[in-house]
Amino acid sequence: MPASPPVLVVVDPQRDFFPGGKLAVPGGDRIIEPVNELVGMFASVVITQDWHPSGHVSFAASHPGCQVGDRLSLPYGEQQLWPVHCVADTPGAEIDPRIAVPPHARIIRKGTRPLIDSYSGFFENDGVTPVGLHDLLVDLSATAIVVAGLATDVCVLATVLDACRLGYDVTVVDEASAGIDVNGSLSRAWTQMTAAAARRAATVAEAALSMRRG
Ligand SMILES: [Zn+2]
Repeated sequence: MPASPPVLVVVDPQRDFFPGGKLAVPGGDRIIEPVNELVGMFASVVITQDWHPSGHVSFAASHPGCQVGDRLSLPYGEQQLWPVHCVADTPGAEIDPRIAVPPHARIIRKGTRPLIDSYSGFFENDGVTPVGLHDLLVDLSATAIVVAGLATDVCVLATVLDACRLGYDVTVVDEASAGIDVNGSLSRAWTQMTAAAARRAATVAEAALSMRRG
């Protein structure tokens, strides 16, 4: 049986993660055009969407006395605290309207439970509870994914590492991703992703070329 074509996974292209949003990724706007180019190239597109209940455990405001950037030790591991962002059914949680979401796109919502965060589309931050992306890719018979989105050093990183762990062939498109980059986190993320056997495509054109090579 021939391998199914790769699936495009766009991580969290939501208003709150773009400049002007509540947890803006610096320079995030530059990914809009490359992401839209990618979207036009794939028959199957999956978009992950951070979708938190108000008072979510990942919000600094949910922990009296804590600040954004603090790290808390929680039952499932260490949790970095963030500004309130991507609250379900608020404008900030919407897919940015500049992203050309195709009608066939599937959406995977994550971080939906109050007491645990999910950076990855595959597993919640306990590393074991499925979020839904793996089942969806199995349904599509996909073995290869191309990943883009926000933020390279948080949710793209977590999604890519899980995908590699699950045995997917993974390509990450640099120009269609942007990172928060605190204290070298972006270059560390790339090191981790490539060490896990993910391919780094500098541009959309390079990703297209590597897809054709199979
Ligand atoms: Zn979040």
